[in-house]
Amino acid sequence: MWKPASLDPENWEEMRKLVHQAVDDSLDYLESIRDRAVWQPAPEDVLQQLRTPAPVDPQGARRAYDDFVSLVRPYQLGNCHPRFWGWYLGGGTVIGALGEFLATLENSSVAGGNHIGVQVEKQVLEWCRQIVGFPEEASGLLVSGASMGNFIGLAVARHAMSAIDVRTQGLAGLAFPGAFYTSVEAHSSVQRALELLGLGSRCLRKVRVTETYAIDTGELQRMINDDRAAGIHPWGIIGTAGTTNTGAVDDLTTLAAICRNEKMWFHVDGAIGAIVALSPAHRHVVRGMEEADSLTMDLHKWMQVPFEAGCVFVRQRAYHRDTFTTTPEYLERHARGISAGDFWLSDYGPQLSRGFRALKIWLTIKEHGLARYADLVDRCISLAQKFSVRLERTAELKLLAPVALNVVCFRYDPGGLRLEALNELNRELVIRLQESGVAVPSYTTLEGRFCVRVAFANHRTRLEDLDIFIAAVLGLGAELSR
Ligand SMILES: *Cc1c(COP(=O)(O)O)cnc(C)c1O
Repeated sequence: MWKPASLDPENWEEMRKLVHQAVDDSLDYLESIRDRAVWQPAPEDVLQQLRTPAPVDPQGARRAYDDFVSLVRPYQLGNCHPRFWGWYLGGGTVIGALGEFLATLENSSVAGGNHIGVQVEKQVLEWCRQIVGFPEEASGLLVSGASMGNFIGLAVARHAMSAIDVRTQGLAGLAFPGAFYTSVEAHSSVQRALELLGLGSRCLRKVRVTETYAIDTGELQRMINDDRAAGIHPWGIIGTAGTTNTGAVDDLTTLAAICRNEKMWFHVDGAIGAIVALSPAHRHVVRGMEEADSLTMDLHKWMQVPFEAGCVFVRQRAYHRDTFTTTPEYLERHARGISAGDFWLSDYGPQLSRGFRALKIWLTIKEHGLARYADLVDRCISLAQKFSVRLERTAELKLLAPVALNVVCFRYDPGGLRLEALNELNRELVIRLQESGVAVPSYTTLEGRFCVRVAFANHRTRLEDLDIFIAAVLGLGAELSR
């Protein structure tokens, strides 16, 4: 058998043709996405074809690509589609995808050292720092997303707040570590971070919310007082700028004031809402996040950067660095050469090898400019408001939570049904909508009421998509209640 000297193409000309064709196919797919079903499940025969052993002999690039076209592309999640509003995802950008292609083709690893990738990441972090209003001395890091951002922010909080040196002694040195407080509506990644940090979920106090689904700050203060009286140290508060369920924003200014008074750490989960600071019309909603000690922002959601992309900032750089830095001999710094430079990104998080995700962010922000993002924020909030007005005007549709940003929870209610039957009807309605290919909402439950949930974080959505969606909801709802 012929053995190649490297993994480069055997025939560069053929590979060039294939890559060009893949680019054309991809752009065609995206340009015409509106005409296709949002989502369809992969049929059994496709799954059978996927479940093959890894080939021992080469199949060749062309065949591998053809398999992608037939087995993978048609069954993707669908979040590029203008009527995908489930969970909370971004729609991606072409230039972002180009950035990912360039970064991976040239295969940079951005741990640290004296190369341009580090400088591009620094620059992107600088842009994002200015968006969220953190001080110039703050440190930052690009991460896979807000889950990792919350993990890093809370790891720094644990390091900063514990009276012992947690890095050497671990938590075994403490009888009860300390308590963190967040609302019952906070994202599950907050609890997971505390569990992974060895604090255990017993250290997390979940505070009830008010009728706006934002944290009840009076109740929070009472819980802090009770813990202090019982000899437990309140370590930190996690505020949410835009909850996943309803888009509610905690009163961040009050949370910052409580943290100042009580000498607690203030972390803000801005996965959804941090970008709202770009909009002059809406930035007052997230006021107070700039006072946080640490803050997480997602770039692959409302900012539309292709997955994965998020960032975390820490007000006091020294705490951030001291939480993670370790310098083995093989990474020692020198004044010159590839290991020069004192800003090693691997000093600010758990990863050493890191992808060059900064490039797709840098290109996306350069192509579109921040003004366009401000406009996108306003447009999505306006869609949510227009949608809730439509709900109010339609007898069978009921809004189930106040709309703070771009998330709307509602249900189909033909009248005369008890709660259980109503929940059952709406559960089936969401699944039928997804299976219809017309739109993809997701669902949640608020105070026992099953909701159809739509998050308008998609840059391709137009007003007419609301009409198409409402018609589908009313049609399916009527069919199901018959
Ligand atoms: C999505 C989300 C997260 C988790 O972010 P990932 O980017 O998926 O890791 C955290 N917090 C909130 C409020 C979110 O909506």
